[in-house]
Amino acid sequence: MGSSKPRQLLLFDIDGTILLSDGIGRRLLDEALAARFGPKVTSDGVNFTGRTDYAIVGDALRNHGICSSEHTQLILQILDDYSARAQDRILPSDVRLLPGVDRLLQRLHLHSGVQLGLLTGNLKATAYFKLEAAGIASLFPFGAFGNNHADRNALPALAWAQAYEHDGTRYAGQDTVIIGDSVHDVRCGRAAGAFCVAVATGHTSATVLSAEAPDLLLADLSDADYFCSAVLGSAPPMPPVPDCNDSPMNQR
Ligand SMILES: [Mg+2]
Repeated sequence: MGSSKPRQLLLFDIDGTILLSDGIGRRLLDEALAARFGPKVTSDGVNFTGRTDYAIVGDALRNHGICSSEHTQLILQILDDYSARAQDRILPSDVRLLPGVDRLLQRLHLHSGVQLGLLTGNLKATAYFKLEAAGIASLFPFGAFGNNHADRNALPALAWAQAYEHDGTRYAGQDTVIIGDSVHDVRCGRAAGAFCVAVATGHTSATVLSAEAPDLLLADLSDADYFCSAVLGSAPPMPPVPDCNDSPMNQR
């Protein structure tokens, strides 16, 4: 490895962090559940915040006593149907970028020391439908998604593999930043040994996020200057060892 400062991999969550989508995901998922099991089977009572779509569908099925030996297959079929329904149904009017996000992402995209990626509980397809509707899909060349694993904490390793394929860099926890709006994002980042940024623009309050002890807690992502200095300065080069001649003892 060279002596220059390594690039940092910034992995962004989507819902509540980059954008809000006014529950379109839940509505389309409920359509897929109803198409398979009838209108009484819904995702009501299932907590979506910070969780993978795979885990969400698993909970919905369990809540309705739908457990079979083909549980995994069933979840994947529901997710396929959800994804197909989402293809033409997530419109620009369904998504709203959160304050300052567009400016911050454009700036990070241009930063030579930054690689952007996604770490989200969304399916890959629906993640990109949302980002395309918001006009920012091209900023995220890869990511780890809710169809890759039910457990969010398994996603950083998958994101590192994708990043290696993309830019040939072997990232690890110490050069990864995970940015999200839920306690699950912070716990995922912590488990990965990453720098954890929590942003209180989703369904989780700053007080609750604070209890998870993220490395940085922000009300929103509107202050790009502060974000860049706090996050990209999080692993500064070691200060140079002072030359003896620079010692105050030697200054007259
Ligand atoms: Mg989120």
